[in-house]
Amino acid sequence: MTALRRTVKIRGAPMQALDLQTICDKCDKSRAHGNHTKCSKLRQAEAAERRLQK
Ligand SMILES: [Zn+2]
Repeated sequence: MTALRRTVKIRGAPMQALDLQTICDKCDKSRAHGNHTKCSKLRQAEAAERRLQK
């Protein structure tokens, strides 16, 4: 159901976050290639830690 909430503006505003979505911020590799389950788990762990530290 996330696809329905996506707001993609083609003419309104340029897609600035395209790089962030295609390139993994954990291993700096294309998300389309390789396995990023560890990266997503790492990201989740960081979010959980941040929640605990508050
Ligand atoms: Zn990755």
